[in-house]
Amino acid sequence: MKAAILKKPFEVVVEEVPIPVPGPDELLIQVKASAICGSDIKAYIGKHPLIRPPIILGHEFSGVIVGKGSGVDGFRIGERVVVEPTFACGHCFFCKRMEYYLCENLKQLGHQVPGSFAEYTVAKARFAYRLPNGTSFEKAALAQPLAISLHALYRAGIRKGQTVVILGMGAIGLLLLQVALRRGARVIASDLVDFKLEKAKALGALRVINGASPEIVTEIRAETHGTGADLVIEAAGSSATIQQAFSMVRTGGTILLLGITGHEREEVPLERVTLDELNVMGTMRYAMGDFANAIEMIHQNAVDLDTLILRRFALSEISEVFEETLRSPERVLRSVMVV
Ligand SMILES: [Zn+2]
Ligand SMILES: [Zn+2]
Repeated sequence: MKAAILKKPFEVVVEEVPIPVPGPDELLIQVKASAICGSDIKAYIGKHPLIRPPIILGHEFSGVIVGKGSGVDGFRIGERVVVEPTFACGHCFFCKRMEYYLCENLKQLGHQVPGSFAEYTVAKARFAYRLPNGTSFEKAALAQPLAISLHALYRAGIRKGQTVVILGMGAIGLLLLQVALRRGARVIASDLVDFKLEKAKALGALRVINGASPEIVTEIRAETHGTGADLVIEAAGSSATIQQAFSMVRTGGTILLLGITGHEREEVPLERVTLDELNVMGTMRYAMGDFANAIEMIHQNAVDLDTLILRRFALSEISEVFEETLRSPERVLRSVMVV
């Protein structure tokens, strides 16, 4: 089969490799759609903390079952599936507590095991979900970032009527925006790129503010009668937006950190956490039920995914697409490999 292998930073090569053989509890899946995530780009430029080349990248994908291990019941050859790409061990301290997203032995597709920028990939059957009829492969491939967004807003305890600021309107930011609006929040969106702010406005953001505006904190305070936002979600992964989050959140409010800056340390006004009883939390993956809910939302057209998919490409073009993505990062949402 053909697979795109990240050989070293800035070098992705499409090569002929053997079709993988599924283990007893695994499915062999013909990949039909696979999206490029921000973490794939980070790996491409050699800046991802967990991904070491050589590796086949890709984890946001869907496809058709073409083979299965001897121990797999409940799936048939030919079924359309989407896969939760983080394979937990099922027996560590966290897995036993049903917190399998914190698993000590987690293997993620495209991180520790070969990913989905290939004609075929193998996945643990217990992390596969049947696709409802009428749900396209390319939309289903975005179930993973949607599941991340659902988990993030659950962690933050979002409630109706709250004022929520989302800093960073990448694909996850635009998904968070849509889910937060459905929960009845007033959402203010920020990004440095006007093209993304236009998307946020079109999706229903109450206000959009360019993150470079020196007035951004004043404007958020004005929008909340001087109090500050109930919830600020940092989804840009920069030191500047982390500082903004602390300046915008109200006393007793919540800061949810989702972006990854790549820095080990950030200087933040930690004393405010105590004095103002702030909740500061992080989020990374998704919990039990989030993936199934994401698939159902996609099936019901409850989120606009068309707005995120800016480009479709073939496996043979992947190297070009990575390069183009680096050249014009302002237009990066999701590019999807389709078969
Ligand atoms: Zn991803
Ligand atoms: Zn585990």
